[in-house]
Amino acid sequence: MGSMSQRRPRHRTFPPRPAADPAGPCPCGGSAAYRDCCGRLHSGRATASTAEQLMRSRYSAFAVGDRDYLLRTWHPSTRPRSLDLDPGTEWVRLEVLSATGGTPFHNEGTVAFRAVHRAGAREGVLDEHSRFVRHEGGWVYLDAIAD
Ligand SMILES: [Zn+2]
Repeated sequence: MGSMSQRRPRHRTFPPRPAADPAGPCPCGGSAAYRDCCGRLHSGRATASTAEQLMRSRYSAFAVGDRDYLLRTWHPSTRPRSLDLDPGTEWVRLEVLSATGGTPFHNEGTVAFRAVHRAGAREGVLDEHSRFVRHEGGWVYLDAIAD
């Protein structure tokens, strides 16, 4: 996830940030609890089998502030040397819009998604079409492609 486009804030009340409560709902919006969904990937107990699963887990890593996971699932050719996560930004909701490739039978895949974030009363929307590739057997984020 790269640049962010800000949208005029809408005055709504959101539920509190799920944080990293293992038994709580997963930030990615999956039906399983965090520990059984993206938490398994963050802790290294499992790896993403599809590009979409990796994308969801990276969104959740932004939401729970897992910088190490974001860096280790970033392709070495595009990975930043360090990553600063803004603690004031809350990741509110993820919508996966479409995906191509990215299955266990592919070496590349793309996922288009919309991520809603909030800083204080200010809400923003990040629309991105991300590209993922297989690196050393596992899925990693490569870059964002222009639509
Ligand atoms: Zn999840």
